Amino acid sequence: MDVRGEASTAGWARWGTAKDVKLPDSASRLLAQVLDLTPPPSVVALAAVAVPDCELDGAVLDALRQMVGDGHVITTQEARVRHASGMSTPDLLRERHGDVRLAPQAVIRPADHRQVASVLDICSRLGVAVVPFGGGTSVVGGLTPAAARYVALDLGRLNQLLAVDPVSRTATLQAGLRAPQATELLAEHGFTLGHVPQSYEYATIGGFAATRSSGQASAGYGRFDDMVMGLTVATPRGTVRVGRAPASAAGPDLRQLFLGSEGTLGVITDVTVRVRPLPARSHYEGWRFESFADGLHAVRRLAQDGPRPTLLRLSDEIETMIGAAGSGRSEGGCLLVAGYEGAEVLPTVEAAADVLAAHGGVPLGEEAGQQWARHRFDAPYLRDALLDAGAFAETLETAAYWSALPEVHGRVRQAILDALPDGALVLGHVSHVYETGASLYFTVICSPGPDPIGRWRTAKAAASEAIAATGATISHHHGVGADHRAWYAAEIGDVAVDLLRAVKQHLDPAGILNPGILVP
Ligand SMILES: Cc1cc2nc3c(=O)[nH]c(=O)nc-3n(C[C@H](O)[C@H](O)[C@H](O)COP(=O)(O)OP(=O)(O)OC[C@H]3O[C@@H](n4cnc5c(N)ncnc54)[C@H](O)[C@@H]3O)c2cc1C
Repeated sequence: MDVRGEASTAGWARWGTAKDVKLPDSASRLLAQVLDLTPPPSVVALAAVAVPDCELDGAVLDALRQMVGDGHVITTQEARVRHASGMSTPDLLRERHGDVRLAPQAVIRPADHRQVASVLDICSRLGVAVVPFGGGTSVVGGLTPAAARYVALDLGRLNQLLAVDPVSRTATLQAGLRAPQATELLAEHGFTLGHVPQSYEYATIGGFAATRSSGQASAGYGRFDDMVMGLTVATPRGTVRVGRAPASAAGPDLRQLFLGSEGTLGVITDVTVRVRPLPARSHYEGWRFESFADGLHAVRRLAQDGPRPTLLRLSDEIETMIGAAGSGRSEGGCLLVAGYEGAEVLPTVEAAADVLAAHGGVPLGEEAGQQWARHRFDAPYLRDALLDAGAFAETLETAAYWSALPEVHGRVRQAILDALPDGALVLGHVSHVYETGASLYFTVICSPGPDPIGRWRTAKAAASEAIAATGATISHHHGVGADHRAWYAAEIGDVAVDLLRAVKQHLDPAGILNPGILVP
């Protein structure tokens, strides 16, 4: 098993152990000044976590074993515990306390599309809920169904690169491939996906499609859903293949029905993606802006009028200050990191520099950008370090049109601060830009208090209400899961909710796929 299992470095009750990322002393001192840090209780060992015995009928287990093979229907305590939740901070805190809520009855590991389809057929007939499990990195409760008995469908064995079309620049990847494996396989053919979310180390191709993921280089490569040309989906009704040409006017685009469907309408077994040649050059640099408003203006000009860097990430004043405390810089203002990848980058770097300078940007040089690039995957390890230090740290995100962005930033930030009156640090940044708007991402660090999960629920609800009130979306890239369901329903309205329910009813008449997730 390699999903949050033996061969994986994903940690128990933490993001991982592959890197030893420590809180810099200066950041620890700053946090201790602002927050009341409580030493956390020691982490309950995985082996000590109690789960009730598997209650699945022997006939169900036999039917599943016949389909996927004896060794791939796993009912061990470890496998069930490791597949019981995602990686939000509340998930990690529960794991730290040895509380995994509802563990799956068994972990099923199909080898191919046919086996996935057969597992869905068996589970539909026998009324057993199924939760597709990719990398297990959901941060919105996407792996925690509202079902008393369910199995986790771990897609880790669907890990092949099925086809590459170098002329059209497309590749077909199986859903269970993790991002680093997919990157390696594509690199052998001279291509890259360019999809680099912060969950890169563990998240899978199927998970990216199922949640409409967006990576750090989305300004240049686009969101994951932009890259998807076609999908194969196993549903309890049968197989659906969508997307057969680069563009089509043959009716509504049904790829969009399955992108972001979060395992509720079917299991994505392979994804055909647009790929790009491996970049020959890359260049990262930093810029300073006097204020977030100034930086937003400059970033908008690049997003709308070009030239567009591959990566644009603008931190607000607080995020810049905390980042500077960690790295020993003290330039103040707001930090913008711009990254460029391609066959030839210098002309774009120079043209973008003219735009940034014309809008008040002060160049900080390559080291400021490279420092970001060196630490681009550190944040989840830093969250572990913060939890170890007794602080609570969690993130949330949204997207809005440029004209609304400053208000959304201000109101969401204030809503979180108001909901955590005894002190919190709220860091913000923009890291995905479009012609019409951008994402906003918030990191919240606060004292855990006696009930950290309860405190977070209150703050998250306040932030979500503020997001809804400003007309922004409840998620730009984390998805809906169980946690955003109520706000998602309000965002799309009653008729659209009924439409979604009707589609689910058709494709999944027994309601076995991810009950309680996404579909209101
Ligand atoms: C530290 C951290 C950083 C993150 N950074 C980013 C980021 O930068 N950008 C971003 O977009 N997201 C980010 N995320 C969120 C998360 O990584 C994404 O949602 C990711 O796309 C999920 O992929 P996964 O393979 O881990 O899916 P899982 O977490 O296993 O599953 C997510 C949902 O999709 C369903 N699902 C999974 N695979 C399939 C499939 N093959 N077919 C149908 N349904 C399926 C699951 O049932 C579940 O509901 C981050 C999460 C963490 C913990």
